[in-house]
Amino acid sequence: MIKTSGEKRRVCVIGAGTAGLCALKNSLEAGLDAVAYERGTEIGGTWIFSDEMPKDEYDEVHSSMYEGLRTNLPKEVMGYPDYSYPDDIAESFITSNQVLEFLRSYAEHFKLRPHIKLQHEVIRVRPRLDDWEVYVWDHSTNSCDPVYYDFVYVCNGHYTEPDIPDVEGLDLFEGEKMHSHLYRKADKFKGERVLIIGAGPSGMDITNHVRVAAQQVFLSHHLSTTPNTAFMGNVTQKPDVQRFTKDGAVFTDGSTESFGHVMFCTGYKYTFPCLSTDVGIQVIDNFVQPLWKHCININHPTMAFVGLPFNVIPTHIFDMQVRFTLKFFTGQRKFPSREQMIADLEQEIQERWGCGVRNQKKAHQMGERQFVYYNELARIAGIENIKPVIHKLMKDCGKKYIFDLDTYRSNKYTIVDDENFLKNGKPIV
Ligand code: FAD
Repeated sequence: MIKTSGEKRRVCVIGAGTAGLCALKNSLEAGLDAVAYERGTEIGGTWIFSDEMPKDEYDEVHSSMYEGLRTNLPKEVMGYPDYSYPDDIAESFITSNQVLEFLRSYAEHFKLRPHIKLQHEVIRVRPRLDDWEVYVWDHSTNSCDPVYYDFVYVCNGHYTEPDIPDVEGLDLFEGEKMHSHLYRKADKFKGERVLIIGAGPSGMDITNHVRVAAQQVFLSHHLSTTPNTAFMGNVTQKPDVQRFTKDGAVFTDGSTESFGHVMFCTGYKYTFPCLSTDVGIQVIDNFVQPLWKHCININHPTMAFVGLPFNVIPTHIFDMQVRFTLKFFTGQRKFPSREQMIADLEQEIQERWGCGVRNQKKAHQMGERQFVYYNELARIAGIENIKPVIHKLMKDCGKKYIFDLDTYRSNKYTIVDDENFLKNGKPIV
Protein backbone atom coordinates (compact mmCIF):
# COMPACT_ATOMS: atom_id res chain seq x y z
CA MET A 1 0.00 0.00 0.00
CA ILE A 2 1.46 3.38 -0.98
CA LYS A 3 1.36 5.97 1.79
CA THR A 4 0.52 9.57 0.93
CA SER A 5 2.87 12.06 2.55
CA GLY A 6 1.69 13.04 6.02
CA GLU A 7 -0.31 9.83 6.47
CA LYS A 8 0.41 8.31 9.88
CA ARG A 9 2.37 5.09 9.96
CA ARG A 10 0.30 2.25 11.46
CA VAL A 11 1.35 0.05 14.36
CA CYS A 12 -0.19 -3.26 15.40
CA VAL A 13 0.41 -4.32 19.00
CA ILE A 14 -0.36 -7.96 19.79
CA GLY A 15 -1.53 -8.24 23.40
CA ALA A 16 -2.58 -5.75 26.08
CA GLY A 17 -0.54 -6.94 29.06
CA THR A 18 2.21 -4.92 30.73
CA ALA A 19 4.32 -4.97 27.54
CA GLY A 20 1.54 -4.32 25.03
CA LEU A 21 0.18 -1.34 26.97
CA CYS A 22 3.64 0.15 27.06
CA ALA A 23 4.15 -0.41 23.30
CA LEU A 24 0.77 1.17 22.60
CA LYS A 25 1.33 4.21 24.79
CA ASN A 26 4.80 4.98 23.48
CA SER A 27 3.77 4.44 19.83
CA LEU A 28 0.88 6.88 20.21
CA GLU A 29 3.18 9.40 21.89
CA ALA A 30 5.62 9.02 19.00
CA GLY A 31 2.85 10.15 16.64
CA LEU A 32 2.04 6.74 15.18
CA ASP A 33 -1.43 5.35 14.58
CA ALA A 34 -1.42 2.38 16.95
CA VAL A 35 -3.94 -0.33 17.87
CA ALA A 36 -3.53 -3.06 20.51
CA TYR A 37 -5.39 -6.32 19.95
CA GLU A 38 -6.20 -8.30 23.09
CA ARG A 39 -7.80 -11.70 22.81
CA GLY A 40 -9.07 -11.64 26.40
CA THR A 41 -12.02 -9.70 27.78
CA GLU A 42 -9.82 -7.34 29.81
CA ILE A 43 -6.37 -5.81 29.80
CA GLY A 44 -3.60 -6.94 32.18
CA GLY A 45 -2.52 -10.38 30.88
CA THR A 46 -0.61 -12.31 33.53
CA TRP A 47 -2.12 -10.28 36.37
CA ILE A 48 -5.69 -11.45 35.78
CA PHE A 49 -6.63 -14.23 38.17
CA SER A 50 -9.07 -16.82 36.88
CA ASP A 51 -9.69 -20.35 38.09
CA GLU A 52 -11.11 -21.38 34.74
CA MET A 53 -9.29 -24.46 33.46
CA PRO A 54 -8.74 -25.50 29.81
CA LYS A 55 -11.90 -27.16 28.46
CA ASP A 56 -9.99 -29.75 26.47
CA GLU A 57 -6.45 -30.53 25.39
CA TYR A 58 -6.60 -27.85 22.64
CA ASP A 59 -7.95 -25.11 24.87
CA GLU A 60 -5.54 -22.68 26.51
CA VAL A 61 -5.83 -20.37 29.49
CA HIS A 62 -3.48 -17.43 29.36
CA SER A 63 -2.68 -16.42 32.93
CA SER A 64 -0.64 -18.38 35.48
CA MET A 65 -1.83 -16.24 38.36
CA TYR A 66 -2.62 -17.99 41.64
CA GLU A 67 -4.52 -17.12 44.79
CA GLY A 68 -2.60 -15.15 47.39
CA LEU A 69 0.32 -14.21 45.13
CA ARG A 70 2.31 -11.22 46.28
CA THR A 71 4.88 -9.73 43.94
CA ASN A 72 8.49 -10.84 44.18
CA LEU A 73 9.70 -7.36 43.25
CA PRO A 74 8.79 -4.20 45.16
CA LYS A 75 6.25 -1.93 43.50
CA GLU A 76 8.94 0.79 43.54
CA VAL A 77 10.62 -0.97 40.57
CA MET A 78 7.42 -2.32 39.01
CA GLY A 79 6.08 1.00 37.78
CA TYR A 80 6.91 2.41 34.37
CA PRO A 81 9.63 5.08 34.22
CA ASP A 82 6.98 7.74 33.55
CA TYR A 83 4.15 6.31 35.68
CA SER A 84 4.69 5.02 39.23
CA TYR A 85 2.50 3.22 41.72
CA PRO A 86 0.49 5.55 43.94
CA ASP A 87 2.13 6.51 47.25
CA ASP A 88 -0.98 5.51 49.21
CA ILE A 89 -0.13 1.80 48.90
CA ALA A 90 1.88 1.22 52.06
CA GLU A 91 3.49 -2.14 51.22
CA SER A 92 6.24 -2.59 48.69
CA PHE A 93 5.35 -6.21 47.82
CA ILE A 94 1.79 -6.09 46.62
CA THR A 95 -1.05 -8.34 45.47
CA SER A 96 -1.78 -9.30 41.86
CA ASN A 97 -4.98 -7.26 42.05
CA GLN A 98 -3.04 -4.15 42.97
CA VAL A 99 -0.82 -4.70 39.91
CA LEU A 100 -3.90 -5.14 37.74
CA GLU A 101 -5.41 -1.92 39.14
CA PHE A 102 -2.17 -0.14 38.37
CA LEU A 103 -2.19 -1.33 34.76
CA ARG A 104 -5.79 -0.18 34.38
CA SER A 105 -4.89 3.23 35.77
CA TYR A 106 -1.94 3.43 33.34
CA ALA A 107 -4.36 2.76 30.47
CA GLU A 108 -6.78 5.44 31.77
CA HIS A 109 -4.07 7.99 32.47
CA PHE A 110 -2.62 7.76 28.96
CA LYS A 111 -6.07 7.43 27.36
CA LEU A 112 -5.25 4.09 25.79
CA ARG A 113 -8.73 2.52 25.96
CA PRO A 114 -9.99 3.85 22.58
CA HIS A 115 -6.96 2.20 20.96
CA ILE A 116 -7.45 -1.25 22.53
CA LYS A 117 -9.64 -3.87 20.88
CA LEU A 118 -10.67 -6.48 23.43
CA GLN A 119 -11.74 -9.96 22.39
CA HIS A 120 -9.72 -9.52 19.22
CA GLU A 121 -7.24 -12.29 18.65
CA VAL A 122 -4.42 -11.95 16.15
CA ILE A 123 -4.38 -15.29 14.41
CA ARG A 124 -1.96 -14.71 11.56
CA VAL A 125 0.76 -12.21 10.76
CA ARG A 126 2.42 -12.32 7.37
CA PRO A 127 4.93 -9.95 5.78
CA ARG A 128 4.05 -8.41 2.40
CA LEU A 129 6.37 -6.39 0.20
CA ASP A 130 6.22 -3.21 2.25
CA ASP A 131 3.84 -3.86 5.12
CA TRP A 132 2.26 -6.53 7.33
CA GLU A 133 -0.95 -8.42 6.77
CA VAL A 134 -2.58 -9.15 10.11
CA TYR A 135 -5.64 -11.37 10.40
CA VAL A 136 -7.69 -10.52 13.45
CA TRP A 137 -10.50 -12.71 14.75
CA ASP A 138 -13.19 -10.70 16.50
CA HIS A 139 -14.58 -13.07 19.14
CA SER A 140 -17.71 -10.98 19.66
CA THR A 141 -18.86 -11.15 16.02
CA ASN A 142 -16.97 -14.32 15.09
CA SER A 143 -15.55 -12.61 12.05
CA CYS A 144 -12.01 -12.45 10.80
CA ASP A 145 -10.57 -9.77 8.55
CA PRO A 146 -7.13 -8.75 7.36
CA VAL A 147 -5.75 -5.39 8.44
CA TYR A 148 -2.51 -3.83 7.17
CA TYR A 149 0.22 -2.31 9.29
CA ASP A 150 3.66 -0.78 8.86
CA PHE A 151 5.01 -2.08 12.16
CA VAL A 152 4.20 -4.97 14.49
CA TYR A 153 4.94 -5.26 18.20
CA VAL A 154 4.74 -8.85 19.43
CA CYS A 155 3.70 -8.61 23.11
CA ASN A 156 1.90 -11.94 23.53
CA GLY A 157 3.58 -12.87 26.84
CA HIS A 158 5.62 -15.96 27.56
CA TYR A 159 4.11 -17.65 30.59
CA THR A 160 1.44 -19.73 28.86
CA GLU A 161 3.13 -22.76 27.29
CA PRO A 162 4.61 -25.01 30.04
CA ASP A 163 8.07 -26.47 29.65
CA ILE A 164 8.01 -29.93 31.26
CA PRO A 165 11.27 -31.90 31.30
CA ASP A 166 11.35 -35.42 29.98
CA VAL A 167 11.90 -37.52 33.12
CA GLU A 168 12.08 -41.31 33.05
CA GLY A 169 8.93 -43.05 34.23
CA LEU A 170 6.65 -40.00 34.24
CA ASP A 171 4.06 -42.03 32.29
CA LEU A 172 4.12 -44.69 35.01
CA PHE A 173 3.30 -42.26 37.81
CA GLU A 174 -0.37 -42.74 38.71
CA GLY A 175 -0.83 -39.61 40.82
CA GLU A 176 -1.73 -36.12 39.58
CA LYS A 177 0.78 -34.39 37.26
CA MET A 178 0.55 -30.68 36.71
CA HIS A 179 2.53 -27.59 35.82
CA SER A 180 2.55 -24.41 37.91
CA HIS A 181 0.77 -22.70 34.97
CA LEU A 182 -2.50 -24.28 36.16
CA TYR A 183 -1.87 -24.02 39.91
CA ARG A 184 -4.54 -21.77 41.47
CA LYS A 185 -5.20 -22.60 45.14
CA ALA A 186 -3.34 -24.50 47.86
CA ASP A 187 -6.56 -26.00 49.35
CA LYS A 188 -6.64 -28.82 46.85
CA PHE A 189 -3.52 -30.27 48.48
CA LYS A 190 -5.08 -30.45 51.96
CA GLY A 191 -3.49 -33.37 53.83
CA GLU A 192 -1.65 -34.55 50.70
CA ARG A 193 1.97 -35.40 49.92
CA VAL A 194 3.24 -33.24 47.06
CA LEU A 195 6.45 -33.14 45.02
CA ILE A 196 7.37 -29.70 43.64
CA ILE A 197 10.07 -29.64 40.99
CA GLY A 198 12.08 -26.43 40.51
CA ALA A 199 13.23 -23.74 42.95
CA GLY A 200 12.90 -20.61 40.81
CA PRO A 201 10.69 -17.74 42.01
CA SER A 202 7.47 -19.70 41.27
CA GLY A 203 8.70 -23.01 42.69
CA MET A 204 9.81 -21.39 45.95
CA ASP A 205 6.70 -19.27 46.36
CA ILE A 206 4.28 -22.07 45.49
CA THR A 207 6.09 -24.41 47.92
CA ASN A 208 5.49 -21.82 50.61
CA HIS A 209 1.76 -21.69 49.75
CA VAL A 210 1.21 -25.44 49.30
CA ARG A 211 3.00 -26.47 52.49
CA VAL A 212 0.35 -24.70 54.56
CA ALA A 213 -2.36 -27.09 53.33
CA ALA A 214 -0.31 -30.18 52.49
CA GLN A 215 0.82 -32.85 54.90
CA GLN A 216 4.30 -33.04 53.34
CA VAL A 217 6.05 -31.23 50.47
CA PHE A 218 9.22 -32.41 48.72
CA LEU A 219 11.10 -29.67 46.86
CA SER A 220 13.35 -31.10 44.17
CA HIS A 221 16.00 -28.83 42.62
CA HIS A 222 19.61 -28.66 41.51
CA LEU A 223 20.58 -25.24 42.80
CA SER A 224 24.20 -25.11 43.92
CA THR A 225 23.19 -23.20 47.06
CA THR A 226 20.51 -24.55 49.36
CA PRO A 227 17.37 -22.40 49.62
CA ASN A 228 16.24 -21.44 53.07
CA THR A 229 13.30 -23.69 53.92
CA ALA A 230 14.08 -23.84 57.65
CA PHE A 231 10.84 -21.98 58.42
CA MET A 232 8.79 -24.48 56.41
CA GLY A 233 8.49 -27.37 58.86
CA ASN A 234 6.97 -29.91 56.47
CA VAL A 235 9.19 -29.24 53.43
CA THR A 236 12.06 -31.59 52.59
CA GLN A 237 14.58 -30.63 49.91
CA LYS A 238 15.52 -33.28 47.40
CA PRO A 239 17.96 -33.46 44.47
CA ASP A 240 16.73 -34.11 40.90
CA VAL A 241 14.33 -36.94 40.19
CA GLN A 242 16.13 -39.89 38.62
CA ARG A 243 12.92 -41.70 37.72
CA PHE A 244 9.28 -41.75 38.64
CA THR A 245 7.56 -44.85 39.96
CA LYS A 246 3.86 -45.77 40.21
CA ASP A 247 3.38 -43.80 43.43
CA GLY A 248 6.47 -41.63 43.82
CA ALA A 249 10.04 -41.16 42.68
CA VAL A 250 13.64 -42.24 43.10
CA PHE A 251 16.00 -39.27 43.44
CA THR A 252 19.57 -38.95 42.20
CA ASP A 253 20.93 -39.48 45.73
CA GLY A 254 19.24 -42.91 45.78
CA SER A 255 16.46 -41.88 48.19
CA THR A 256 12.81 -42.65 47.42
CA GLU A 257 9.59 -40.89 48.39
CA SER A 258 5.92 -41.52 47.77
CA PHE A 259 3.46 -38.71 46.96
CA GLY A 260 0.14 -38.23 45.23
CA HIS A 261 0.87 -35.06 43.22
CA VAL A 262 3.78 -33.70 41.24
CA MET A 263 3.92 -30.07 40.22
CA PHE A 264 6.47 -28.92 37.66
CA CYS A 265 7.66 -25.36 38.32
CA THR A 266 10.08 -25.73 35.44
CA GLY A 267 9.36 -22.68 33.35
CA TYR A 268 7.75 -21.92 30.02
CA LYS A 269 8.40 -22.02 26.28
CA TYR A 270 8.31 -19.01 23.98
CA THR A 271 5.62 -19.53 21.36
CA PHE A 272 4.29 -17.33 18.61
CA PRO A 273 1.44 -19.32 17.08
CA CYS A 274 0.14 -16.36 15.09
CA LEU A 275 3.36 -15.64 13.21
CA SER A 276 3.56 -17.29 9.79
CA THR A 277 6.80 -19.04 8.86
CA ASP A 278 7.72 -16.29 6.38
CA VAL A 279 8.03 -13.92 9.36
CA GLY A 280 11.43 -15.60 9.56
CA ILE A 281 11.55 -16.26 13.30
CA GLN A 282 12.43 -19.63 14.80
CA VAL A 283 12.45 -20.78 18.38
CA ILE A 284 15.17 -23.34 18.91
CA ASP A 285 15.40 -24.69 22.42
CA ASN A 286 13.79 -21.48 23.71
CA PHE A 287 16.22 -19.24 21.81
CA VAL A 288 14.18 -16.86 19.64
CA GLN A 289 16.19 -15.99 16.55
CA PRO A 290 17.40 -14.09 14.66
CA LEU A 291 16.82 -11.00 16.79
CA TRP A 292 18.91 -7.87 17.03
CA LYS A 293 19.31 -6.76 20.66
CA HIS A 294 16.75 -9.36 21.79
CA CYS A 295 13.92 -7.47 20.14
CA ILE A 296 14.23 -6.57 16.44
CA ASN A 297 13.39 -9.26 13.86
CA ILE A 298 16.53 -9.21 11.72
CA ASN A 299 14.67 -10.74 8.76
CA HIS A 300 11.94 -8.07 8.92
CA PRO A 301 13.11 -5.15 11.08
CA THR A 302 9.66 -3.55 11.12
CA MET A 303 8.67 -6.22 13.67
CA ALA A 304 9.76 -6.05 17.31
CA PHE A 305 9.36 -8.47 20.22
CA VAL A 306 8.92 -6.88 23.63
CA GLY A 307 9.77 -8.62 26.87
CA LEU A 308 11.63 -11.78 25.89
CA PRO A 309 14.55 -11.31 28.32
CA PHE A 310 14.05 -12.83 31.75
CA ASN A 311 15.55 -12.20 35.20
CA VAL A 312 14.99 -8.52 34.55
CA ILE A 313 12.96 -5.57 35.81
CA PRO A 314 10.01 -6.25 33.50
CA THR A 315 8.33 -2.86 33.10
CA HIS A 316 11.63 -1.03 32.75
CA ILE A 317 13.01 -3.37 30.13
CA PHE A 318 9.70 -3.27 28.20
CA ASP A 319 9.74 0.49 28.22
CA MET A 320 13.37 0.68 27.10
CA GLN A 321 12.87 -1.85 24.31
CA VAL A 322 9.85 0.05 23.04
CA ARG A 323 11.56 3.45 23.16
CA PHE A 324 14.64 1.89 21.51
CA THR A 325 12.68 0.37 18.62
CA LEU A 326 10.57 3.50 18.12
CA LYS A 327 13.68 5.54 17.39
CA PHE A 328 14.12 3.30 14.34
CA PHE A 329 10.44 2.97 13.45
CA THR A 330 10.06 6.76 13.39
CA GLY A 331 13.17 7.20 11.26
CA GLN A 332 15.17 9.07 13.92
CA ARG A 333 17.80 6.31 13.78
CA LYS A 334 18.77 4.07 10.90
CA PHE A 335 19.02 0.32 11.38
CA PRO A 336 22.48 -1.15 10.88
CA SER A 337 22.82 -3.44 7.85
CA ARG A 338 21.46 -6.96 8.12
CA GLU A 339 25.08 -8.24 8.14
CA GLN A 340 25.92 -5.94 11.05
CA MET A 341 22.89 -7.08 13.03
CA ILE A 342 23.82 -10.73 12.46
CA ALA A 343 27.42 -9.98 13.49
CA ASP A 344 26.17 -8.26 16.68
CA LEU A 345 23.98 -11.25 17.47
CA GLU A 346 26.82 -13.70 16.90
CA GLN A 347 29.16 -11.65 19.05
CA GLU A 348 26.67 -11.63 21.90
CA ILE A 349 26.14 -15.37 21.64
CA GLN A 350 29.91 -15.94 21.70
CA GLU A 351 30.24 -13.74 24.77
CA ARG A 352 27.42 -15.59 26.51
CA TRP A 353 28.73 -19.02 25.64
CA GLY A 354 32.25 -17.84 26.54
CA CYS A 355 30.98 -16.93 30.02
CA GLY A 356 29.90 -20.52 30.46
CA VAL A 357 26.19 -20.09 29.59
CA ARG A 358 26.07 -22.71 26.84
CA ASN A 359 22.44 -23.50 27.36
CA GLN A 360 20.28 -22.12 24.49
CA LYS A 361 17.44 -21.97 26.99
CA LYS A 362 19.34 -19.20 28.72
CA ALA A 363 19.96 -17.17 25.56
CA HIS A 364 17.55 -14.46 26.77
CA GLN A 365 18.51 -14.66 30.45
CA MET A 366 19.78 -11.35 31.79
CA GLY A 367 20.36 -11.07 35.55
CA GLU A 368 23.39 -8.85 36.07
CA ARG A 369 23.77 -8.51 32.26
CA GLN A 370 20.60 -6.49 32.05
CA PHE A 371 22.42 -3.35 33.14
CA VAL A 372 24.94 -3.70 30.30
CA TYR A 373 21.96 -4.25 27.97
CA TYR A 374 20.18 -1.10 29.18
CA ASN A 375 23.38 0.91 28.67
CA GLU A 376 23.67 -0.44 25.12
CA LEU A 377 20.08 0.37 24.18
CA ALA A 378 20.45 3.86 25.63
CA ARG A 379 23.73 4.48 23.81
CA ILE A 380 22.68 3.10 20.42
CA ALA A 381 19.32 4.86 20.22
CA GLY A 382 20.11 7.93 22.33
CA ILE A 383 17.28 7.23 24.78
CA GLU A 384 17.12 7.83 28.50
CA ASN A 385 18.55 4.97 30.55
CA ILE A 386 16.93 3.49 33.64
CA LYS A 387 17.58 5.58 36.72
CA PRO A 388 20.49 4.61 39.00
CA VAL A 389 18.08 4.23 41.94
CA ILE A 390 16.20 1.44 40.12
CA HIS A 391 19.48 -0.37 39.49
CA LYS A 392 20.53 0.01 43.15
CA LEU A 393 17.15 -1.07 44.48
CA MET A 394 17.12 -4.11 42.22
CA LYS A 395 20.55 -5.12 43.54
CA ASP A 396 19.20 -4.97 47.06
CA CYS A 397 16.21 -7.21 46.39
CA GLY A 398 17.62 -9.76 43.93
CA LYS A 399 17.44 -13.52 44.81
CA LYS A 400 15.69 -12.84 48.10
CA TYR A 401 13.06 -15.42 47.17
CA ILE A 402 15.68 -18.15 47.73
CA PHE A 403 17.29 -17.12 50.98
CA ASP A 404 14.86 -14.73 52.69
CA LEU A 405 11.51 -15.97 51.42
CA ASP A 406 9.92 -15.78 54.87
CA THR A 407 10.94 -12.17 55.56
CA TYR A 408 11.78 -10.19 52.41
CA ARG A 409 8.23 -9.15 51.60
CA SER A 410 7.99 -7.22 54.86
CA ASN A 411 10.69 -4.81 53.65
CA LYS A 412 9.42 -1.40 52.72
CA TYR A 413 11.29 0.64 50.11
CA THR A 414 10.96 4.35 49.47
CA ILE A 415 12.51 6.10 46.51
CA VAL A 416 14.04 9.39 47.60
CA ASP A 417 15.40 10.67 44.29
CA ASP A 418 16.96 9.37 41.06
CA GLU A 419 19.97 8.06 43.00
CA ASN A 420 18.80 7.10 46.49
CA PHE A 421 16.26 4.97 48.29
CA LEU A 422 15.36 4.06 51.86
CA LYS A 423 14.86 0.53 53.09
CA ASN A 424 12.61 0.37 56.14
CA GLY A 425 13.21 4.09 56.61
CA LYS A 426 17.01 3.87 56.48
CA PRO A 427 19.29 4.96 53.62
CA ILE A 428 21.16 2.17 51.83
CA VAL A 429 24.59 3.02 50.45
P1 FAD B 1 1.27 -10.96 29.56
O1 FAD B 1 0.97 -10.29 30.83
O2 FAD B 1 1.20 -12.43 29.51
O3 FAD B 1 0.30 -10.33 28.45
C1 FAD B 1 0.21 -10.83 27.14
C2 FAD B 1 -1.18 -10.51 26.61
O4 FAD B 1 -1.24 -10.86 25.23
C3 FAD B 1 -2.29 -11.30 27.29
O5 FAD B 1 -3.28 -10.42 27.76
C4 FAD B 1 -2.80 -12.24 26.21
O6 FAD B 1 -4.18 -12.51 26.32
C5 FAD B 1 -2.49 -11.45 24.95
N1 FAD B 1 -2.35 -12.25 23.73
C6 FAD B 1 -1.55 -13.34 23.56
N2 FAD B 1 -1.65 -13.79 22.28
C7 FAD B 1 -2.52 -12.96 21.65
C8 FAD B 1 -3.02 -12.90 20.31
N3 FAD B 1 -2.65 -13.78 19.38
N4 FAD B 1 -3.90 -11.93 19.99
C9 FAD B 1 -4.31 -11.01 20.93
N5 FAD B 1 -3.86 -11.02 22.21
C10 FAD B 1 -2.96 -11.97 22.56
N6 FAD B 1 6.87 -9.59 37.18
C11 FAD B 1 7.16 -8.62 38.09
O7 FAD B 1 7.62 -7.54 37.71
N7 FAD B 1 6.97 -8.83 39.44
C12 FAD B 1 6.44 -9.98 39.91
O8 FAD B 1 6.27 -10.12 41.10
C13 FAD B 1 6.08 -11.01 38.97
N8 FAD B 1 5.49 -12.16 39.38
C14 FAD B 1 5.05 -13.06 38.45
C15 FAD B 1 4.39 -14.19 38.88
C16 FAD B 1 3.92 -15.13 37.97
C17 FAD B 1 3.18 -16.34 38.45
C18 FAD B 1 4.17 -14.94 36.59
C19 FAD B 1 3.70 -15.94 35.57
C20 FAD B 1 4.86 -13.83 36.14
C21 FAD B 1 5.30 -12.88 37.06
N9 FAD B 1 5.98 -11.71 36.66
C22 FAD B 1 6.32 -10.75 37.58
C23 FAD B 1 6.33 -11.51 35.25
C24 FAD B 1 5.16 -10.87 34.49
O9 FAD B 1 4.62 -11.82 33.68
C25 FAD B 1 5.65 -9.67 33.74
O10 FAD B 1 6.01 -8.70 34.68
C26 FAD B 1 4.62 -9.04 32.81
O11 FAD B 1 3.37 -8.94 33.43
C27 FAD B 1 4.51 -9.74 31.47
O12 FAD B 1 3.77 -8.91 30.62
P2 FAD B 1 3.54 -9.25 29.09
O13 FAD B 1 2.75 -8.14 28.55
O14 FAD B 1 4.84 -9.58 28.45
O15 FAD B 1 2.73 -10.62 29.05
